[in-house]
Amino acid sequence: MPIPELEKSIIKGVIQKDKVVIDGIELDGTWNSFMIERTQTGYDPSVWDEIANTLEGVTISACWQCGTCTSGCTMREYDPKYGPRRFIDLARKGDKQGLIELQNSIWRCVSCQKCTHRCPKGVLVEEVVHAIHNYLLRHGLVSTDPGTVFDELFFETVMNNGGRISELMLGAASVKKGMVKMGLKDLITMTGPLLRSGLFKELMKPSKVKNWEKIREVIEEAMKEEVRPE
Ligand code: SF4
Ligand code: SF4
Repeated sequence: MPIPELEKSIIKGVIQKDKVVIDGIELDGTWNSFMIERTQTGYDPSVWDEIANTLEGVTISACWQCGTCTSGCTMREYDPKYGPRRFIDLARKGDKQGLIELQNSIWRCVSCQKCTHRCPKGVLVEEVVHAIHNYLLRHGLVSTDPGTVFDELFFETVMNNGGRISELMLGAASVKKGMVKMGLKDLITMTGPLLRSGLFKELMKPSKVKNWEKIREVIEEAMKEEVRPE
């Protein structure tokens, strides 16, 4: 049976003996093959404990590793390294290094909830994946992912533009952060039609939404009370 790609790293190899005799009986066929004994070290039970004690991660303990979540996951086809079952397995073992190695995958969840609807054990898989990712961020084990950086830029742009999104400002901020590469040619291609349409002024300085100052106060107040991922 082929070994699943993600498990290959923990299967160390197979010993093939010429002859195997047990209780005076010589075995034949494939009974002479043995997997090399493996011992996994570096378990850290505090990782599981900490994640299970957060609002998002509380259902992590119910997982029985069936893999239903991973087999139907939207991101799986796009990124073969993305696997909720695997993330949960590593988190429960406290295998931080294993999770760090998957840091370019773990943030990619699109919150479609297919995994959560399909889980036979009632694990809130999408939330648990975020709880694992938040654990890594909280402990400074991984750097801020591009998704979070973009969310922050988006919010900042809306707040700085009277409650409206400015594609131009957001684009410029994304270029500045190195998230988008844009040359002079791209800039001309993009701004040409905008100039011709007469919308350039509006894009540079969008008009504020009605009662913006009040709305701004409400948003700022709400942000102070926001429940940050534990
Ligand atoms: S579907 Fe549920 S029980 Fe199965 S591996 Fe995923 S989280 Fe665990
Ligand atoms: S919510 Fe995230 S983990 Fe679950 S199926 Fe969708 S992309 Fe995959």
